[in-house]
Amino acid sequence: MQTSFPPEALANPAMASSESVIRKCVHCGFCTATCPTYVLLGDELDSPRGRIYQIKDMLENDRTPSAEVVKHVDRCLSCLSCMTTCPSGVNYMHLVDHARAHIEARYRRPAFDRLYRALLAGVLPHPMRFRLALNLAALGRPLAPLLRQVRALRPLAAMLALAPKALPARASTEAPRLPARKGRVALLQGCAEPVLRPEFRAATVRLLNRCGHEVVFAPGEGCCGALVHHMGREDDALAAARRNVDAWIAEIEGEGLDAILVTASGCGTTIKDYGFMLRDDPVYAEPAARVSALAMDVSEYLARIELPAGQGRGVTVAYHPACSLQHGQKVTEAPKRLLAAAGYTVRVPAEAHLCCGSAGTYNILQSEIADRLGARKGAAIAALDADVVATGNIGCATQIARFAGLPVVHTVELLDWATGGPRPASLSIFPEE
Ligand code: SF4
Ligand code: SF4
Repeated sequence: MQTSFPPEALANPAMASSESVIRKCVHCGFCTATCPTYVLLGDELDSPRGRIYQIKDMLENDRTPSAEVVKHVDRCLSCLSCMTTCPSGVNYMHLVDHARAHIEARYRRPAFDRLYRALLAGVLPHPMRFRLALNLAALGRPLAPLLRQVRALRPLAAMLALAPKALPARASTEAPRLPARKGRVALLQGCAEPVLRPEFRAATVRLLNRCGHEVVFAPGEGCCGALVHHMGREDDALAAARRNVDAWIAEIEGEGLDAILVTASGCGTTIKDYGFMLRDDPVYAEPAARVSALAMDVSEYLARIELPAGQGRGVTVAYHPACSLQHGQKVTEAPKRLLAAAGYTVRVPAEAHLCCGSAGTYNILQSEIADRLGARKGAAIAALDADVVATGNIGCATQIARFAGLPVVHTVELLDWATGGPRPASLSIFPEE
């Protein structure tokens, strides 16, 4: 795509980066066929190519975006399916991240929208606040259908509908020290996952320890910043990235780390991008690149180490590949191979490349599109006649549980169970042994 950014604009590294992304696009439109919003809405402006044109116009002319442009960028799930499809290597992720930061800086959203975004950014990345908010939301849950009738209150209704009826006990922040170890890894504690599904972390620690790999939680580490990053809150996202880089570099330079493991692939995609996000920071560019190079999805690490023999117990698993794992990190085979090697029958739903509609805060801020995608995903999974859904991202697990009519677990919970760990609580219909 031809561009005509003024030279002074290109002096800004973010602008220069976006210009080089835009120039790679050859307008072929292959990406439209695999873009969930284009598939659902059929509007070129809701396709990757259409968004690239709109973002180009906004950035090149240093425009304050119109409400129409913001609408189409907001409807993007950041699922990155377009990056898998694109034959020209267009890095749409970096482009839309820049567009979102530009919108956040230049566009004044309607009052309710500002309020919801401030609430999400102020609560979700902080486990204690999130826990408190979920307890309050559980009380307001019955109001969700009523609130849904009022357009401006739909995000609030979506928040209430997503809140679990009861919260599990807090996730443990302790992991045993191993006297003799084959490896030492830091595990991201994260923000939403340990509040909603602490069993994901517990299964990961158990499985890795059983395999002789020590797990540590780096003091000072917190939310990876992905949630605020995808809302265009760049300063908040970079502050989260710097804090985590400091925490993990202290471990790397202390007892050393073989990997930084992530059980939520949405977070993993962002941590693997810290090197890019902080590339112009004279202090953090190099350590951030070191952290990104060590970051791994838990399934990538498990595929490299020796696991005990598995016992699949005749269970059929519908494996849902999270977009952030398959498109963002290009980790496609490891989880399926691990599950099959552990003795499970693994089936993959039709349209596995399409997002389930979770996408961070998308199922709150764009709940109508998210619900349509969730229902479509639920139907594709139901057609598999499986016993359980396995996935590698807390957002997908929460979203799919609403639509699939099956228990949804983390891939690691099944691997842990097959190799000597306890049966996941949601699979009580199966015998323990
Ligand atoms: S990230 Fe997903 S929703 Fe956004 S343009 Fe690409 S394919 Fe479409
Ligand atoms: S597939 Fe790639 S090159 Fe083709 S229109 Fe989409 S982004 Fe541009």
